[in-house]
Amino acid sequence: MRKPIIAGNWKLHKTVDESVDLANQLKAALADVKNVEIIVAPVFTALTAVAQAVNGSSIEVAAQNCYPAVSGAFTGEVSPSLLKNAGCNSIIVGHSERRQLFNESNAFINAKIKAIHAAGARAIFCIGETLTERESGRMFDVLKRQINEGLVGLDAEAMGGVVVAYEPVWAIGTGKVASNEQAQEAHAFVRGVLSELFATEVAAATRILYGGSVKPDNVDGLMAMPDVDGALVGGASLKAEDFARIVRFQQG
Ligand code: PEP
Repeated sequence: MRKPIIAGNWKLHKTVDESVDLANQLKAALADVKNVEIIVAPVFTALTAVAQAVNGSSIEVAAQNCYPAVSGAFTGEVSPSLLKNAGCNSIIVGHSERRQLFNESNAFINAKIKAIHAAGARAIFCIGETLTERESGRMFDVLKRQINEGLVGLDAEAMGGVVVAYEPVWAIGTGKVASNEQAQEAHAFVRGVLSELFATEVAAATRILYGGSVKPDNVDGLMAMPDVDGALVGGASLKAEDFARIVRFQQG
């Protein structure tokens, strides 16, 4: 059984105080939730304060990015081990905003995933096609390439520390969610590629999250799909009530 993960990506939003306030609200609202892994990803400056705020609860903290080095002359960058030290167990990599706005390549994302593994943290590895790629029939090729190049050099053991997030670029921040069937089709394909790359057991054990305009009113249908193991939530993770309802998705 794959335990569902609901992760909130707060992007470039909220001060330290606002982040702690949201974390405290979620801690109170979700104290009884046992069957779902809950993750929040605040901005770098709020990581430690949020990690302290959720201490003692089942909410975990993730970073939104990292640099693939342990330390050194990399002005402005933060390493996976320092993020772990700040209280993060997981780190998001390959988000489409970083691929598009900061030209991050599959090779660079692969280096980050390896660095995250070496630091003993978990990578939330985002992949997804643009609308043009989908409409021109290249979706499966794009996903396969992102997976193959993003995970090259990793073994089955390292895959224990990787969560995949399928985030169609056309659905992120647009309010245009993938249909349940579109999500399932992509997730089943991703699992098949993982199975070819590693082994069926590795693919079967890997959590694949859906991301792209997940809201309280569409999460239930998405989570009912057999290969959808959770959600990576942007906009709706900024309001405690909405995120709490997403965490409490209704099954079946
Ligand atoms: C995201 O940022 O990963 C995301 C899915 O955003 P939204 O839920 O706002 O579409």
